[in-house]
Amino acid sequence: MSPLAARAHLLTNATADRYRQTLVDGVHRVATQIATTDRPFTGITPDHLGLEVAGVDLDQPLGDPLAVLDELQDVYLRDAVYFHHPRYLAHLNCPVVIPAVLGEAVLSAINSSMDTWDQSAGGTLIEWRLVDWTAERIGFGPAADGVFTSGGSQSNLQALLLAREEALAASALPRAEALPRLRILASAAGHFSVQKSAKLLGLAPDAVVSVTVDADRRMRPAALDRELARCRERGDIVMAVVATAGTTDFGSIDPLPAIADRCVTANVWLHVDAAYGCGLLVSATRRHLLDGIERADSVTVDFHKSFFQPVSSSALIARDGRTLRHATYHADYLNPARMVEQRVPNQVDKSLQTTRRFDALKLWMTLRIMGADAIGELFDDVVYRAAAAWDMLSEDPRFEVVTRSPLSTVVFRYLPTGPGRVHADAANLHARQALAASGAAVVAGTKVDGRHFLKFTLLNPETTVDDIATVLELIAGHAGGYVDRATAPLLACTA
Ligand SMILES: *Cc1c(COP(=O)(O)O)cnc(C)c1O
Repeated sequence: MSPLAARAHLLTNATADRYRQTLVDGVHRVATQIATTDRPFTGITPDHLGLEVAGVDLDQPLGDPLAVLDELQDVYLRDAVYFHHPRYLAHLNCPVVIPAVLGEAVLSAINSSMDTWDQSAGGTLIEWRLVDWTAERIGFGPAADGVFTSGGSQSNLQALLLAREEALAASALPRAEALPRLRILASAAGHFSVQKSAKLLGLAPDAVVSVTVDADRRMRPAALDRELARCRERGDIVMAVVATAGTTDFGSIDPLPAIADRCVTANVWLHVDAAYGCGLLVSATRRHLLDGIERADSVTVDFHKSFFQPVSSSALIARDGRTLRHATYHADYLNPARMVEQRVPNQVDKSLQTTRRFDALKLWMTLRIMGADAIGELFDDVVYRAAAAWDMLSEDPRFEVVTRSPLSTVVFRYLPTGPGRVHADAANLHARQALAASGAAVVAGTKVDGRHFLKFTLLNPETTVDDIATVLELIAGHAGGYVDRATAPLLACTA
């Protein structure tokens, strides 16, 4: 095949047919791959796969998309981690809905950029509608506003930026004196992006105060009272309380109404991190678990976690849209201040990003093709399945469980009996690794009170109770085998 002229690769009015053919080839390849994948992972090591990737000469293009798709088989597709596989049970990754994948293909071909109206037109209006739709689901009033972001970490960062600015504006102290006194109260089970955000926002190293949790890993309101009082006594300024609606490990939902009461009394910004729990916004059976979220000042939602959307798709929604002005800077070349007067909608005025993907289109396609109830149904399914997994684990004497999640995680560990007990940590670490190396299943791990535990995060409605039972047997086999070897009399090893 002779090399094409460079311009033949550009997507233009002259190349629409090539675009169609190339994409169809790629879609065929991916469809075949997805249909025939029989395990979530091949278990390949970074060293091994590294050789394949390093073997590609980036200065020798192959020209032909089909040849490159063949090559891609070896460097990526064959060994990728497949979230659509029912025994992928590890992190907060979902199988994606087809309407959203269609949206993804459309948005990257048109390539709108959401910073300004003159780079997006209808894209901006569609994002607005979806921000309003989300705000309405949260229970915010017409003053709410928000913006799509790259993920929950960025949404949390932006929320805390707004909170910081509001706190500094309200403080009688000069900015430089107030800044090191700012504190964020977040539960011990909250997401680490809060700590990262505090660092990025120039807060003191000890700015994030951990509020203790109860046995169900929910923030204790009494502990929040104590920390609020302690900050007051020290002359510290609480700039935000971060409540989590769906902690990453336990799916626990902090008591939002009780926390909101305290934030009102203390006049503190309440941010609710619903990166995971946002799926409840469309649940027909469990929306009430989010009661009180409408009293937040800002909310993080990750559509790429519990709305079955491809990465990335997240949003920050603020109850009072005017607070988003804290992210506004005017550049003469892009969004001069006069445009605000002319009512030209420039989303960059509300965003930490400048050039920004039209991720909102994926949610639009999802709502227009399948509807919110269908998403809620999928999310309800995985919540049911997690409850079944919990029941199974809590009745199985080989395992120890922590707390029943209101969402779709299960944290547990293999618990050896007798003298093998001292090997519990190592046995669980081993089981997780051995499982991933075999490719039979992928599970996550976490620490609970200093001990190594395993974690299922169920986001695939196709995962059956049988899948879960199978994986538990595999885990018990790997962990039990490890304990047997570790406790075997020395004789047996040296014989
Ligand atoms: C995943 C998660 C985040 C971070 O979201 P990203 O989209 O991964 O940046 C924040 N908070 C919670 C509770 C999460 O589970």
